[in-house]
Amino acid sequence: MNSSRNSAQDKKIVIAIDGFSSGGKSTFARMLAARLGYIFIDTGAMYRAVTLYGIEHGAIRNGVPDRERLVGMLGEIAISFRFNPRRQASDIYVNGECVEEKIRGIEVSAAVSSVSSIPEVRRKLVALQQRMGKDKGVVMDGRDIGTVVLPKAQVKIFLTASPEERAKRRFEELTEK
Ligand code: C5P
Repeated sequence: MNSSRNSAQDKKIVIAIDGFSSGGKSTFARMLAARLGYIFIDTGAMYRAVTLYGIEHGAIRNGVPDRERLVGMLGEIAISFRFNPRRQASDIYVNGECVEEKIRGIEVSAAVSSVSSIPEVRRKLVALQQRMGKDKGVVMDGRDIGTVVLPKAQVKIFLTASPEERAKRRFEELTEK
């Protein structure tokens, strides 16, 4: 029985999804994972989680990260995902607290880009993403996923969208908030 379960697992692959922001990457990745029975890993949520932690612990003020302070905190931030059957998707947790909703706020959105450009932050999260990508049956989306994070993914998708569609999606995201 174990061996048949193993061979079913062996047939699973890793799918990397990259593409323009506000191009529907996450929605597409989430739907694809649900359809295949794969785990979806939202890497943007990981950068958002570090940003939220920095805001809540005084390392980001008015959208500006205190780089040294934030880097000093990285060791305290344990990120994990747990499947939420209600959403049929994984929620992100920081040190055991579900922060799936909090990380979508405007304050986090405004600072996440500066946080994601800090090399130490990228190094930590890329290493974590690579560990998660070792399991087969994973769909991972975000910038650099097919190139830097999972260069050996069996399937790589780069999602494009027209400027009109991206603007429409961005507008809808902001008004929803
Ligand atoms: O996809 P989402 O909007 O949640 O991503 C938030 C931010 O995290 C992006 O705007 C980008 O600055 C950063 N990011 C990144 N690398 C990834 C995923 C997200 O730098 N793989």
